[in-house]
Amino acid sequence: MAIERTLSIIKPDAVEKHRIGAIIALIEGAGLEVKAARMIHLSRPVAEGFYAVHKERGFFGELVQFMTRGPVVVMALEGENAVAKYRELMGATDPAKAVDGTIRKAHGANIGENAVHGSDAAETAKNEIAYFFPGHEVP
Ligand code: ADP
Ligand code: MG
Repeated sequence: MAIERTLSIIKPDAVEKHRIGAIIALIEGAGLEVKAARMIHLSRPVAEGFYAVHKERGFFGELVQFMTRGPVVVMALEGENAVAKYRELMGATDPAKAVDGTIRKAHGANIGENAVHGSDAAETAKNEIAYFFPGHEVP
């Protein structure tokens, strides 16, 4: 297994509920290292650009509205098999289907407001990290 990086976002619902610390504790507890972090309030164009792959989906407008309603914490995570490991730690997209011990089970409200984002593949992770950490911010 290789050392990989993945992009994590603590979404506005979790920030509003003061779950930043609890979520980072789960991430670090799983052996993933926080290599870079920024707290930002996404503008509409930045959120639309990030989720461009979903622009034809019925929930796109709702998703952009949600992701821009308050600040988020964007992090580059690193570790063994980080992409799959973090997807497993996040749990299913719908928190009602997420298993015990996952971030979405503990902190997600519903399929839209599900506390966290995680990249779905190594190539996606590379692009998503570059989207939020341009240049040499993540050496
Ligand atoms: P994941 O975040 O698990 O990779 P997707 O990439 O399919 O899931 O969807 C991106 C995000 O869009 C989800 O995390 C969630 O916030 C939102 N979303 C997905 N499906 C729905 C839905 N049916 N209704 C509302 N929002 C949704
Ligand atoms: Mg996804």
